[in-house]
Amino acid sequence: MKRQWVSEFLLDILFPKKCVSCGKLDSLFCEKCQAKILYLKTQNCPYCNKITVRGRVCPSCKSSYKSALTGVYVVAHFETSLKEAIHQFKYEFIKSLREDLADIAWPLLNDFPQKAILTCVPSNSKRLAWRGYNQAEELARILAKRTGMRFYPNLLKRTSYKAPQTQLGRKDRFKNVRNTFVEDKSFDLSGKQVIIVDDLVTSGATLDACAHEIRKMGATRVWGFALARNK
Ligand SMILES: [Zn+2]
Ligand SMILES: [Zn+2]
Repeated sequence: MKRQWVSEFLLDILFPKKCVSCGKLDSLFCEKCQAKILYLKTQNCPYCNKITVRGRVCPSCKSSYKSALTGVYVVAHFETSLKEAIHQFKYEFIKSLREDLADIAWPLLNDFPQKAILTCVPSNSKRLAWRGYNQAEELARILAKRTGMRFYPNLLKRTSYKAPQTQLGRKDRFKNVRNTFVEDKSFDLSGKQVIIVDDLVTSGATLDACAHEIRKMGATRVWGFALARNK
């Protein structure tokens, strides 16, 4: 850990911080670029996009998708500077961006009870080895620090996909992903609300699969919380 801190310090000297979006020196994600972020004005059902409170799954999608999610809260549109920042965080290994990205998102967690538990979508081991960190976990950890919410990073473990997702239709994808995660039975989440943090949400299938496992541990409500949605 200490060694990592020293090397980060040296890297800052040798390669001064510059904004991932506009290239301006001194910060990783400058104020001007952060001001360009388009926050969502309404929250929507993650499946049909109908406007709902806090992104709740609407009743008809709840039954047609057999969703275990209470809803999915999305912070901002996946556009302009935020799109670039998420990309750099995810694919260019700029781990320190977790601080800036958490700063953008954490005030919106005030819409949830303080007693809610934060967790994250687990990374598969290949991805983890390649990137060196699970970006969702890094983000969730800082969000927990900023909000004072509890953070349980290890509620779930990832197994593997049964079939490649790309060859399947939307509903079959949901079924296929469902057996990708297993719960850690030592946790008792009876009566708790759990918020699963991810950087980007696409179909919502992964969050839903996680939510199914988290419900097995007794949680009464399971939310997804993502920086943006990639349609
Ligand atoms: Zn900038
Ligand atoms: Zn819906």
